[in-house]
Amino acid sequence: MPFSKLGLYSSLVRGAQALGYTEPTPIQAQAIPVVLSGRDLIASAQTGTGKTAAFALPILNRLGPHRATGPRVLVLEPTRELAAQVDESFQKLGQFTDFKSVVLHGGVTLGPQRNALRAGVDIVVATTGRLREFLDGTLIKLDTIEVLVLDEVDRMLDMGFIEDVKAITRLCPANRQTLLFSATIPPQLAEVAKFALTKPLRIEIAREKPVTASVNHVIHPVSENQKLDLLLGLLKRDDFKSVIVFARTRKGADRIAHQLRLENQACVVIHAERTQGQRVDALDKFKTGRCGVLVATDIAARGIDVANVSHVINFDVPLHAEDYVHRIGRTGRAAATGDAVTLVTPQEANEIVAIEKLIGQKITVVPVEGFAYEGGSAPRIDPANPLANSPKRAGHQQSLGAGGKQKGDSGGNQDKVYKGKAFGGGNPKWHSKGKPGAQWRKSNGG
Ligand code: AMP
Repeated sequence: MPFSKLGLYSSLVRGAQALGYTEPTPIQAQAIPVVLSGRDLIASAQTGTGKTAAFALPILNRLGPHRATGPRVLVLEPTRELAAQVDESFQKLGQFTDFKSVVLHGGVTLGPQRNALRAGVDIVVATTGRLREFLDGTLIKLDTIEVLVLDEVDRMLDMGFIEDVKAITRLCPANRQTLLFSATIPPQLAEVAKFALTKPLRIEIAREKPVTASVNHVIHPVSENQKLDLLLGLLKRDDFKSVIVFARTRKGADRIAHQLRLENQACVVIHAERTQGQRVDALDKFKTGRCGVLVATDIAARGIDVANVSHVINFDVPLHAEDYVHRIGRTGRAAATGDAVTLVTPQEANEIVAIEKLIGQKITVVPVEGFAYEGGSAPRIDPANPLANSPKRAGHQQSLGAGGKQKGDSGGNQDKVYKGKAFGGGNPKWHSKGKPGAQWRKSNGG
């Protein structure tokens, strides 16, 4: 069904077309008519499915022209990046309509946000912290809100913002329309939904397989102390053009970035401890292709929507299986394809089980020659262990068990060579004789 058949004004259909959207995605086809009807909605959809336009288009449709009566739409987002990105989507989709919006988030001075509020806005896109700061003053009241959007609510729950969400919801009029979007709907969300929504319709998209089919998943078994070398090797490959490297912790992200730079591998970093200026600058460099490698933590990367991310590399296996879905949602977005590469140590192997259960598929194990689990132990042959059961790709040389040799102390030729299709099957781009790190420094002139 084309956008023109969904009951949207032609100016909004043009807005969608200007972004290259020819057809609504499933979540858009289902949610747009519901939002237009004024009903409350709970929608769960996998990340990267077009969730933003699913609420932005019908909301803009409902709004009509700008009125100086106070904000009529409030969208709550868990992170600054996501807030900025959703506001940008409103701007782009509504470029042929007349409305004013402001994005309120921390990490930047209050001045411009204050000025925008004073001038009068129709739509407020906010993180809970900065919004509450403003609510303590007199510049904004929520009693004119007609539509409340709670976006990525599972993440707000994880981040401990749910009480804030409830407090803000209480300040909105009872007869508002409320839309709740969440990639996953954990049981705790039922309570929030009961609190915030009235007789909601529920839409579930691809709950069975929350991972876009266009992503290829690969596991590389590796020992902890070789992860960095493996990462460096991957990043040197031609097909790793635009890569997000995920670390579990801020310190871990900083450490990876530091090590990459020591090896002359340019990268930018985002995590919650970086200033807003640094975060914006890093994302901008990555989005515009001036830097091909972004090192990020889960929370900071949540809002990232970059076209053509070729690879997501999980340097650390994520703590929660849901985070895997969000991480790899950064690649293979919309119709594009991408690769999700996870570096797995024996200690992390069990966490893969939960991930495979969630995504409903086994992840292919592709040993990389020269890298293996410490001490040469191959993955356990255990039916409960997906590493052992995963299909091995033809053409891959099983190098597990060669752990003792990979340090180059055998005297033999221990060149590290990527083989097989999972790496594009191309020519080996890098070699390491002797201590891998040392060789990197040598071959990169660093
Ligand atoms: P979202 O899930 O809202 O973050 O959207 C994921 C990506 O899909 C963004 O890059 C959108 O611009 C893109 N997108 C959203 N809707 C469509 C559509 N109908 N056709 C093509 N791309 C879309």
